[in-house]
Order: sequence, then structure tokens, then C-alpha cells
Amino acid sequence: MNNSFSQNRRQFLSTIGASTLTIPTLTDAFGRAVSAQPAPDRKLGIALVGLGNYSKNQLAPALQQTQYCRLAGVVTGTPAKADEWMKKYDIPKANVYDYKTFDRIANNKDIDVVYVVLPNSMHPEYVIRAAQAGKQVICEKPMAITEKECQSMMDACNKANVQLAIGYRLHYEPFTKEVIRLGQEKVFGPIKFVEASDGFRIGDPTQWRMKKVMAGGGPLMDVGIYAVNAARYVTGEEPISVTAQFSPKTEPEKFKDVEETLFWQFTFPSGAVSNSTTSYTTGIERLYAACEKGWFELSPAFGYGPLKGRTSKGPIEQPIVNHQAMHLDGVCKDLLDGKKLPDHVTGAEGKRDVRLLQAIYRAAETGNKIKLV
Ligand code: NDP
Repeated sequence: MNNSFSQNRRQFLSTIGASTLTIPTLTDAFGRAVSAQPAPDRKLGIALVGLGNYSKNQLAPALQQTQYCRLAGVVTGTPAKADEWMKKYDIPKANVYDYKTFDRIANNKDIDVVYVVLPNSMHPEYVIRAAQAGKQVICEKPMAITEKECQSMMDACNKANVQLAIGYRLHYEPFTKEVIRLGQEKVFGPIKFVEASDGFRIGDPTQWRMKKVMAGGGPLMDVGIYAVNAARYVTGEEPISVTAQFSPKTEPEKFKDVEETLFWQFTFPSGAVSNSTTSYTTGIERLYAACEKGWFELSPAFGYGPLKGRTSKGPIEQPIVNHQAMHLDGVCKDLLDGKKLPDHVTGAEGKRDVRLLQAIYRAAETGNKIKLV
């Protein structure tokens, strides 16, 4: 641990009134034993930035189940939502901001963590402003649209001595953790082929997800990123080259600005190959790994669950959990403990994926095989 990190850890713990570490509890949000230590004397206060579907339907309900953090504030451009959320979640007016007043959050001791849940193009600005306000930061996926933006977000967090987590909820999800183990520990021998695909039929064609300037692209940026991340986490390797193809547009009027369906293939240093599809026209959601001595799969593999898995030896049995509560508690427990977050849930991981998303687009646009090393 470097000096600035440990110094900042002391500052952060003293700010939140936890300089004497009294962290984990007997059970987690799902009633399962996690540790024999006493409960935290204070949950971290989270402010959600952007009260859209994910905040409203997933994160706020999950924050009612978490034990290391709580919903303490909101940042919204819609006054009616501010009123509704204050009533529903008993949030004091002093903890409600809009996008102009947001920077004043720096003076709010109730807020320890800012969670950016805005359209993709807005992630960099709000992550950087949150870091400059001295808050720990969580940012939704994709971290940003370009690798350069990711770097500037990481730089701002490093400069402010705060940590940056990305909304990689699956990294805390038991079925996903099990397939990561099966793949990386080569339980069925080395992986030869991976199929990882994620797509759905998109509704409202006027939403920001259909605007390249706000989304960075189409389904690849939105859900294809799960397939990119999965090919990396089951193999435990970084791809060395990529080829990609756009499908012909079957609904050209709807998909004027972003791709409709996209296919790509990664090759990995071990010789493993992955093949993926992402789409805004049709549901597809699975992760399959063919190994030298067997296979394993998750389907569904990337949604909010329950996930389901099998191997060539039988079903994968794991507890069904709330992904968002697991993710929030996993990140906030480390923050409370003053620990460095695991690399695979931080901005460094977000940047790796964004780099690959950009490379996939380049490969599809040029028809060339793009080298990644
Ligand atoms: P929504 O469109 O439902 O919500 C986005 C919110 O951002 C809006 O409601 C609004 O909140 C705020 N906003 C501010 N400026 C704008 C603008 N110009 N246009 C549109 N919205 C604006 O999006 P989601 O909640 O579905 O997605 C938000 C982020 O979360 C995305 O990055 C997405 O990729 C990610 N996500 C992650 C998921 C996961 O499983 N990890 C699942 C779903 C989304 P307000 O009115 O309060 O200002």
C-alpha cells in the first residue's frame, strides 16, 4: 500500500467516524455468515447521481438491503423526482442536489460515496467532479466512451486520493464467481472456445441509448460489454487480436445512429478463441466455455438474475442474491475497511473494457483484424 493511499485511508476513516475499525457483521444482506466481527458503527452514505430506471428500480431498492451503505442523497435534474425520493426514502432536503449545485456535495458529511448512474457520455464529467469534491466514486458501465476519458477519470481520482469502482455487479455474484473459478483454475482443462453473447429488443427509439453522442454506440456499449468482460474473466487472459462484423440493418429507420447487431471474435495468448454477439433487436444471453476436458455455461448469464448454470458434470448450485446489494456492500465494505478495491472492479478494469469496445468498432468499420498487443 503506498503512502498517499494509507494517509488518505486514515483521513477517510476519520471523516466517517470509523478510525477504530469495527467493521463486518455476522451475516450479510442475505442472511449468510460473513465474519465474526461486530457491525459497522456507521454505514457509508451514498448519493445516486441520475434517477433513471437503474437508480429507481435496482439501486434504491438494493440500498434498502445493504449493511455497509445506505441511500443518503440524490442528484437529479428533475424536481418532481427530488420530491418523490425525499418522501419515499426519507432523504433530507440538504442532501438533494441538481447538476448545477452538485459540487456543494463536497461540504456534505452525510455523503461518503457518489454513484454516477447517468447516460454514458456524462460519466467522465460527474466522476471527475465527484473526485474533486473529495468523495469515493462508483460509476456505471461502460465507464466512458473512450479510453482517454477513462484515463482522465482515473487521474482525477488518483489526484484526489479517492477510489473509483465501476458498476461490475457480476463480479460479486456467486454463479459468475464460480465460472470465473472454473475457467481460471482450469477445472475442465484449458479453455479452447468461449461463446459470450448479450442482447435484447430495445423499446423507445428516442432514448439516449439510440444516440451515438450520448451512448458511444449501440448494444455493444450497453450490453455487449458484458460479453467482452466475460470472455476476459473466464479465460483470465487479455485478448491479443479482434475481428468484428456489423450485421445488415433489418430496421434501418430505427438504427440510423447506432449499430443494430454486431459480432466479434477475440483470440487469446493461450490460443483460446471467443465469439460474441450483441443486439438491440433480439434477446440473447449466454456464456459457454468449451474446455479440453468438459464444458461449463451460464444462461441467463448477465441479467439481474436468477442466473442459471451447468457444467459437463451437472448443474452449478449457488445462492440467488441481489446483484446490486452484493456489489454495493462488496465495494463499501472495502472502503470502510480502508482497503484498496480489487483491481477487477476498478477504473483500471473499466478502461480495459472500453479499450476493447473501441477496438471492436474499429475492426468492424475497417474489416481488418486489429492487433491488441
Ligand atoms: P435512464 O435513461 O433510465 O436514466 C438516466 C438518468 O440520467 C435520467 O433519468 C436523468 O435523471 C439523468 N439524465 C441527466 N441528463 C440526461 C440526459 N441528457 N438524457 C437522459 N438522461 C439524463 O438510464 P439508465 O438508468 O438505464 O442507465 C444509466 C446508466 O446506468 C448507464 O450508464 C447504463 O449503462 C447503466 N446501467 C447499468 C446497469 C447494470 O446492470 N450495471 C443496468 C442499467 C443501466 P434525472 O431526471 O434524475 O436527472
